[in-house]
Amino acid sequence: MLRVFACVAYDHDLRIVAIAGLICLLAAFTSFSIVEQARRSTNRRAAWLVTAGFVSGTGIWATHFVAMLAYRPHMTGAYALWPTVLSIAAAMLLSGAAWWLSLRAERWAAAAAGAVIGAGIAIMHYVGMSAVSGMGDVFHDTDLVVASVAIGMILSTFAILVRRIRVLREAQRLPWPASVVFTLAICGVHFTGMGAVRMVHAPGPVVVETAISIQTLTAAVSVVAIIILATSLAIVFFDRKLDRRDAEEEERLRTFADAAVEGLVVIDEDCIVDANHSFLHIAGYDAPDRCPKNISRLLPDLDLAKVPVAHDQAPVECRLVDADGTECPVEVLARPLEWRGSSLRILAVRDIRERKEAAARIAHLAYHDSLTGLPNRAVFAEHLANMIEQANGEPVAVLCLDLDGFKAVNDVYGHPVGDELLIEVSQRLRAAVGPDSLVSRLGGDEFAIVQRGGDQPNYAGQVSGRVIAALSEQFPLEQQTVRVSCSVGVAVYPDDAETPIDLVKNADMALYRAKAEGGRTCRFYEPAMDEALRQRRLMETELRLAIERGQMAVHYQPLADLETGAILSFEALLRWTHPTLGPIAPEVFIPLAEECGYIGTLGEWVLGRACADAARWQRPLRLSVNLSPLQFMPDRLIATVKRILDETGLDPKRLDLEVTEGLLLQDVDSALEILRGLKALGIQIAMDDFGTGYASLSYFRMFPFDKVKIDRSFVQDMIENPQALAIIRSVIGLGHGLGMPVIAEGVETNAQLNALRAEGCSQIQGYLISRPGPIEHFDRVVIDRSAEASASVPKKRRPRAKRA
Ligand code: C2E
Ligand code: CA
Ligand code: CA
Repeated sequence: MLRVFACVAYDHDLRIVAIAGLICLLAAFTSFSIVEQARRSTNRRAAWLVTAGFVSGTGIWATHFVAMLAYRPHMTGAYALWPTVLSIAAAMLLSGAAWWLSLRAERWAAAAAGAVIGAGIAIMHYVGMSAVSGMGDVFHDTDLVVASVAIGMILSTFAILVRRIRVLREAQRLPWPASVVFTLAICGVHFTGMGAVRMVHAPGPVVVETAISIQTLTAAVSVVAIIILATSLAIVFFDRKLDRRDAEEEERLRTFADAAVEGLVVIDEDCIVDANHSFLHIAGYDAPDRCPKNISRLLPDLDLAKVPVAHDQAPVECRLVDADGTECPVEVLARPLEWRGSSLRILAVRDIRERKEAAARIAHLAYHDSLTGLPNRAVFAEHLANMIEQANGEPVAVLCLDLDGFKAVNDVYGHPVGDELLIEVSQRLRAAVGPDSLVSRLGGDEFAIVQRGGDQPNYAGQVSGRVIAALSEQFPLEQQTVRVSCSVGVAVYPDDAETPIDLVKNADMALYRAKAEGGRTCRFYEPAMDEALRQRRLMETELRLAIERGQMAVHYQPLADLETGAILSFEALLRWTHPTLGPIAPEVFIPLAEECGYIGTLGEWVLGRACADAARWQRPLRLSVNLSPLQFMPDRLIATVKRILDETGLDPKRLDLEVTEGLLLQDVDSALEILRGLKALGIQIAMDDFGTGYASLSYFRMFPFDKVKIDRSFVQDMIENPQALAIIRSVIGLGHGLGMPVIAEGVETNAQLNALRAEGCSQIQGYLISRPGPIEHFDRVVIDRSAEASASVPKKRRPRAKRA
């Protein structure tokens, strides 16, 4: 070490040594700058590496040569040409190879590069030394030679590592620190090598044929040094400019990328290199450094090989796991990207959550009823078909449901209440059937349930029972508490039908039967229902045509005063005579008309005809007309009655409208309002069939009925059955108390007549006085003013009352 120091201090001109050091530093800096250029470039990397080898080789040699000028300056020597050329060539080749190695990613590459370049410097030095003549016999101290080689290799490796670390950390680009270390390596080799020199003979004048003169070499070295200096300055300048441009370009691209709505992420294989704001937003990260470094953590099912890169290919869909671990559907496209000398890929990631949700909503709307949210008819049909297909010997039951009394709720309270009721009904249905059954709304107040398996038809029967019970409970709605019930028809695959269509048809038929039997019940399909239903359908169609085909007629039945026997009034009773089926009882066709929604038309027709008839009677006898509860539509009934009275000219004071208790069962407020409106017209209101329904005395408190008609079933029983008599007695008592006439219907015998008279009943109606008949049968009653009312009653059925 001391020898090296002494050599530098005493054997060298330190000013020239400083120049050599400066040249060396510049050469090192230039070399590293060019190597950096080579690293960034993909297509011109080889050219840059050759240039770097040339610059560093020249720089090492120039350093050596200038340092030699500083060595014992009084000593003049000459340089042999070929060893000199060889030494420069070795420096260039080996340093070029070392630069190439230094760019390799492997861990050993830096050490290998350091070793190669260290070897290059040493070869250059010792071969160069051998070219010098005029120094006498030169020997080298082996230890120091080995030390010089080691210094060169170690420091070079160190320089390359320094550079590599700085590049990895993306620290300042200019390679000054590495250049300083590399300068130390070159100078280390040179001055240690010089310290190793032993000269035996005093130098004398030398003549070598191919020697290059010192002047030529000095000029050459100066030119080379200037070229190196200029090149390095140019590179620094160029590099700075490039840096700035790169930074600007990057900034511009980043602004552009961040403005994009789509998520953009640059990846190098699985590694995330960069991502824009939109991508971070989709992935739920507020800062880029929080985002995971691997794309596979964010897009776990993405197969990069399958992501389309062509413009006309559809993007692939996959899930993105965001910061919270929530999965979000995304759509991904890829494009290749050349970036900072590497082949990367840019992925365009689009959040398709909203699109998916919208699609799901649309699908839901297509398959669900918008009011109740229940699956619709389409889903029901598909589900049933699937169930049957996969039945595998298991039974599949279809339960068709229809609400009893829904139409009345809708008519009386309006659609908003009806809708609210349907929503409630659907909730109760869902709760009443198990999770293994599908409930759907087929439309209106029709619902259906599909069940698979179980012990059929018992299972369907149990569920029907639960459903009927649940729907028969009252519904406390927002404005109104209403009560409905429901009927159920059941058909079971494969016993009742083999296909879904037939199964539903048969369940429907069973439902009709349940309805026909008064509702609030469940019926199972039986083959005989087919015929019954066919008949019913036929009847329905025939009924709708009956008026225009002139098959309808109004008959009249008189009501007489029990004391005087005088005929006070006629009740209008509708008659339908079918050309082939003959007379059809009102008990049959009136409920049919009510069910099929035809009762309004029919009722209007009866009222019009009866009022027109009565208006023509010369004697101003009263007229009673029956009203079905279903005719009680707000706005409509009063207007209709008024119009008919106007058109026929009948005095409203002569008209009685008969209503049944059923009217007041659920739609009380609205019904009462209509009744008051009718009464305001001057019409009287009679309570018909009293005692048959859910008779309640409270009805009389709710509304001031003008008359009450005791149902004929009580009259028929009153002789034998003391309870029937007791009821008649109490109704008559009630009538007296309220100042309200009581009419007994269906009086057929004198015994009944006498008993009623004894009880104080005011009016009677029945076969004893007269059967109902066309108005012509009563011509004398309604025309002959002077005649006794009794005299005009048909002879056969002359009432005893007149003789009483
Ligand atoms: P209702 O209002 O109780 O009418 C009286 C029914 O009793 C009539 O039957 C009549 O023929 C019958 N009747 C009268 N006297 C006797 C008797 O002494 N013994 C027996 N066994 N029966 C007697 P009809 O005409 O068959 O009508 C049946 C029901 O049909 C009526 O009962 C009424 O509820 C309904 N109806 C008839 N016409 C109309 C109508 O135009 N509109 C509405 N909404 N319902 C009607
Ligand atoms: Ca009646
Ligand atoms: Ca009656």
